[in-house]
Amino acid sequence: MERILPFTEEHEMFRKAIRSYVENEIVPQYDKWEEEGIVPREAFKSMGNYGFLCPWLEEKHGGAGADFLYSVISCEEFGRKSIVGFFAFLHSDIAAPYIASYGTEEQKQKWLPDCASGDKILAVAMTEPEAGSDLAAMRTTAVRDGGDYVLNGSKTFISNGILADLIIVAAKTDPAAGSKGISLFVVERGMPGFERGKRIPKIGMHCQDTAELFFDNCRVPAGNLLGRENEGFIYLMEKLQQERLMAAILNQSLAERCLEITLDYVKERKLFGKSLSKFQNTQFTLAEVATEIQLGRSFVDALILQHMEGKNVIQGVSMAKYWVCEMLNRVATRCLQLFGGYGYCKEYEISRLFVDARVQTIYAGTSEVMKLIISRGLGL
Ligand SMILES: Cc1cc2nc3c(=O)[nH]c(=O)nc-3n(C[C@H](O)[C@H](O)[C@H](O)COP(=O)(O)OP(=O)(O)OC[C@H]3O[C@@H](n4cnc5c(N)ncnc54)[C@H](O)[C@@H]3O)c2cc1C
Repeated sequence: MERILPFTEEHEMFRKAIRSYVENEIVPQYDKWEEEGIVPREAFKSMGNYGFLCPWLEEKHGGAGADFLYSVISCEEFGRKSIVGFFAFLHSDIAAPYIASYGTEEQKQKWLPDCASGDKILAVAMTEPEAGSDLAAMRTTAVRDGGDYVLNGSKTFISNGILADLIIVAAKTDPAAGSKGISLFVVERGMPGFERGKRIPKIGMHCQDTAELFFDNCRVPAGNLLGRENEGFIYLMEKLQQERLMAAILNQSLAERCLEITLDYVKERKLFGKSLSKFQNTQFTLAEVATEIQLGRSFVDALILQHMEGKNVIQGVSMAKYWVCEMLNRVATRCLQLFGGYGYCKEYEISRLFVDARVQTIYAGTSEVMKLIISRGLGL
């Protein structure tokens, strides 16, 4: 089925360029990164050199003024090769938009060109040990003291947590006001009182650095407040639409990758004197898988269009985050089964797709939290 997105010749040229970059410069190194448990800083720098980071930024801030389809293409090309743990899309399309949308011109000039070049790596820190799904329960505080805010508290599960140079940190500036007392700060590498914990070992996405962050009387200049004081929760909610859409886009392309490699495998594998693809179970399984994937594709592309038109698609995006991430898990499980024992072996790409799929229904808002939002939208 043809895609409904208005890809132009320029988009296709960009796709070709990033596809070749992923195949030639990421895929050959990816196993090493997984073993080492981290993506090297140089990988971000190299993405920046090619103009693949934050292409949507205005030219005066280091970008190319590109539309959202360029971000979609980057994300899809990573997914197409099962590159899940290199969180360039978090840097470009989830974290940088906070600075671009809520930063002053001075803040944008100061930080964004380095984000586009890959000299500075970004992270977003919301989650705390006692506040994951229930974000408003966060305990990190920021108290104004002269020209600074003094931050105290900790964050956990922060993606790019070790590598990040600029971290958008949510903290309570008015703890009594609940979600209406949260503000966002840009905490910079090396600020006194800011420490990182060790990388958190995970069952998958080994090279995606996930870390704890600690703030112990960390003095952050008032000039690093992002947007207005106490409006942080509104900003987080506004930006979650794109964050969750990016998750759906990535998961959709990962599901497509599962199908692609499984189709190849079942045609090659012979048993009981015939090709695995000739068993009715294989055919029906893959027919069902392909149908689910097509449903996801139609839904995700429709949402991309509406998001590009500036529409509020929180309800649809919450459905897509929930459904596509769950769909990827179903697809990865069923495809792995068709690989038999080989599917359980690291040498086979499907094994990594299966393991890396597991977290997708958890981060960026769990499936259950997505269902809460959807049910609220239904008036329940
Ligand atoms: C690899 C990884 C990377 C991450 N990256 C980041 C990052 O960069 N920045 C960041 O801020 N956070 C990040 N997170 C955190 C992630 O967003 C949280 O883990 C997630 O929001 C869930 O929070 P929690 O882990 O505290 O689980 P909990 O909130 O404790 O949830 C536990 C269970 O309860 C369920 N539950 C929660 N509320 C309800 C409810 N109202 N009704 C029914 N069930 C409910 C949940 O769905 C879940 O099944 C990351 C997490 C991981 C694992």
